[in-house]
Amino acid sequence: MNLEVVTIGTELLLGHTIDTNAADLCRALTSVGALVVRKTTIGDDPAEIHAAVAGALERTGFVITTGGLGPTSDDVTKRAVARLFGVPLVVNDDYLDRLERRWRDLSRRGPMPEANRTQAEVPAGATILPNPRGTAPGLWLEGKPGVAVLLPGVPHEMRGLVADEVAPRLARRVGADRVTVSRVLRTTGIAESALADRLRHTEPELDSVTLAYLPTLPGVDLRITAWSLPAQEAGRVLDRAADILRKAVGTPYYGEEGADLAAVVVERLRDRGICLAVAESCTGGLVGGRITAVPGASTVFAGGVIAYADEVKIRELGVAESVLAEHGAVSEAAVVAMARGVAARFGTRAAVAVSGIAGPGGGTADKPVGTVWIAGLVAGSERVVRVGLPGDRYEIRARAAQSSLDVLRRLLGRDDRESRSSPNG
Ligand code: AMP
Ligand code: MG
Repeated sequence: MNLEVVTIGTELLLGHTIDTNAADLCRALTSVGALVVRKTTIGDDPAEIHAAVAGALERTGFVITTGGLGPTSDDVTKRAVARLFGVPLVVNDDYLDRLERRWRDLSRRGPMPEANRTQAEVPAGATILPNPRGTAPGLWLEGKPGVAVLLPGVPHEMRGLVADEVAPRLARRVGADRVTVSRVLRTTGIAESALADRLRHTEPELDSVTLAYLPTLPGVDLRITAWSLPAQEAGRVLDRAADILRKAVGTPYYGEEGADLAAVVVERLRDRGICLAVAESCTGGLVGGRITAVPGASTVFAGGVIAYADEVKIRELGVAESVLAEHGAVSEAAVVAMARGVAARFGTRAAVAVSGIAGPGGGTADKPVGTVWIAGLVAGSERVVRVGLPGDRYEIRARAAQSSLDVLRRLLGRDDRESRSSPNG
């Protein structure tokens, strides 16, 4: 079953709002076996809406729109689509009742504004898809031009309506119970090209799924997709492919879709009953920020020192002046002393220290921008790495925080071969 998506909103064209609805919709629709063959974005303009919806219906007979269902004058989707279907807008009394009740339940004073009342106007013959998260209902309109499903633009309302009302209806229509499903495996600390090398020999084993490499700031995600299969079989082939890939990837793998490396570190610290302290130079608190963003971090995180200036490294962390004079603040000796210093001061058995050159200035031939030293310390094991990170200042700092967490993850992991490694690069 082919269909098209039309996202409506002038803010999308101006670039003020990122079109997350299209991505969310496309994922939800493909997962129930409907194939999105085109997506279009247009402004809040009746003629544009008319043309985009008419074009989509001519090509596929099925269109889903988001946006322009609100109570204000710039919300013109309903009217434009009703005109295309040749039906008038009529007040739906049941829906008007619901809106008035909702208005009173929210203890609003006075009568409901006329603008809200227009939300109870629907194209004659349309099915109302209830929207408990907001005031604009979804509308399912079938007629000679085809099927048009109109959804509100507010992202969480749109997603709720798709999950509760649209996806189940589409799944029934698609019938044959065929789905297209994806899974994501997250990796970090390995370049896309190195990962591809590592996986080259396994790719032929991945029958019935496709594999995509998705480089992101925290690492490379691997997306595997099973296309148009019965749901059970899709689950089976994805499980099998995920197993094969996890083994082939090895240590860089740290979780599935949405996994957060800081949460992995917190969980492993908790499992082992070990408390962490951090000493941060170039990341200025990003590592501590990532750790404390994880609910329950208080049981495993003592705190840290933002040791940006050399005096602070010396005074607060006990780094010897001679270390800084001889090797510089971005050096193996400096981060090792920082990690040991912060662990001693905070009385923790785990510590991580990070010092690097985030740029844009400050790089040298020896230590170009992106050079970052990280020392980790867990229950007597140490791991020190030098990494060369790409990107601008923002990216280098974010990647340095991620790499610092990864040093801890590897030290905390079950893979002891990874511990006590010498500096690489
Ligand atoms: P609307 O239903 O057009 O009144 O949209 C309500 C709000 O939802 C807008 O102000 C936007 O912030 C948001 N929104 C609308 N369309 C999209 C979209 N395609 N992606 C993400 N947010 C959107
Ligand atoms: Mg709008």
